[in-house]
Amino acid sequence: MPDPAPQPPRKAKDYKSDVKPIWCPGCGHFAVLSAITKALAQLALPPEQIALVSGIGCSSRLPAYTHVYGFHGVHGRALPVATGLKTARPDLTVLVTGGDGDGFSIGGNHFIHACRRNPDLTYIVMDNQVYGMTKGQASPTTAPDWTQSKLTPHGTGLPRFNPAAIALAAGAGFIARGFSGDPTGLAQLLVEAIQYPGLAFVHVLSPCVTFQPEQKAWKQRVHQQTESTTDDPLVAAQRMLQGDPMTTGLIFRTPASVISRPDVADQAATLTQMREQFLSG
Ligand code: SF4
Ligand code: MG
Repeated sequence: MPDPAPQPPRKAKDYKSDVKPIWCPGCGHFAVLSAITKALAQLALPPEQIALVSGIGCSSRLPAYTHVYGFHGVHGRALPVATGLKTARPDLTVLVTGGDGDGFSIGGNHFIHACRRNPDLTYIVMDNQVYGMTKGQASPTTAPDWTQSKLTPHGTGLPRFNPAAIALAAGAGFIARGFSGDPTGLAQLLVEAIQYPGLAFVHVLSPCVTFQPEQKAWKQRVHQQTESTTDDPLVAAQRMLQGDPMTTGLIFRTPASVISRPDVADQAATLTQMREQFLSG
């Protein structure tokens, strides 16, 4: 196969639309938008070769603020839409964005099975531990003793959903945690995630300054992981998942030598080949 044509250098602003975000001033999602556009610019991907699919919620507005193809989908259903798109158009780079309510509650089942199916998607979840768009209800990642919502005045009393641990258990090959307060570090994680040839899950701590104002202090709490002292990726992931949940960095990456699950696009290609063989007798 000939090498792909060299791409002209791109800037982050080439991927931003003229639509002004309506997020609250100080919302973490502004920086996530910047990190995504920075990562796309670093990879010099042609905007017409990128699709961004989202669900519903504050963070799911993100496709409108970009200059790539976008699909603002049904609540919790961004992953199946994106999986279908990637299957039909394997040539596209497909990113999926959403929040913790969209992705882990309504879309929780899709999250688990997307990790298991391993389509070549980058799933970016902006986690602020609350439903922001619908005025601050508890989400699956809300602390059990958070009492600020009138719906849960005594807290939820429920343990938090641990997205990265669940992604690992469900078979995701690439898992990372980033922070909107470090858009450069986040952009670097996104570059690696987009290049990963399977489902890459990037869990982003992104404060909701309106309904979880105490998250403004995350800047002081979040820190990058220290260098791992083990060569075993599963042991490293386990240590990260059992450690401080405010630690950012790569959690797990399946070594290339053991990626064995077929990608959805490969499966689609195999089915097409089988159908052609069948029709040709
Ligand atoms: Fe951001 Fe929260 Fe405002 Fe939504 S409600 S835009 S998540 S600060
Ligand atoms: Mg949220």
